[in-house]
Amino acid sequence: MNFLARLLYKLSHFMQGRYGIDGLCIPILVVSCVFTFFGTLFGSIILRLIGSALLILLVCRSLSKNHAARQKELYAYYNLKNKFTFRNKTQYVHQKQKPGRNQEKLIRKEQKAVRKEQKKFKCYFKCPECKAELSVPKGKGKIQITCRKCGHKFIKKT
Ligand SMILES: [Zn+2]
Repeated sequence: MNFLARLLYKLSHFMQGRYGIDGLCIPILVVSCVFTFFGTLFGSIILRLIGSALLILLVCRSLSKNHAARQKELYAYYNLKNKFTFRNKTQYVHQKQKPGRNQEKLIRKEQKAVRKEQKKFKCYFKCPECKAELSVPKGKGKIQITCRKCGHKFIKKT
């Protein structure tokens, strides 16, 4: 057995029954790096100490033999993460469903344009009885219009 193989064997023997690496390792590592980075940047010993403490915590976690406790931490982390991502998602959907002021303006403008386009081909009359607005095709000469609402009949020139 060469040196490397023996080292790997020893390492695997050492890691037997220990917790190892899980989904919480990388976030801890990232946060630790951030603290260490800003600690170095601003010359703050406290920030660097927090970074180092997180790194030690990370190593201790992976070497721990209390799997139940470590898994509990992992699930707590996942729960927290889900809560945040879920809330962000619903907010996003909410924003998407709500039309903005600009969008409302655009819709109104579009409706106006459609009405203008229709006016080229249609005449609008108000029923003398019930005041309902009626639209009839343009250019048909004198026609009898029947109100859709009350059935009142009247003659108009289109
Ligand atoms: Zn009418």
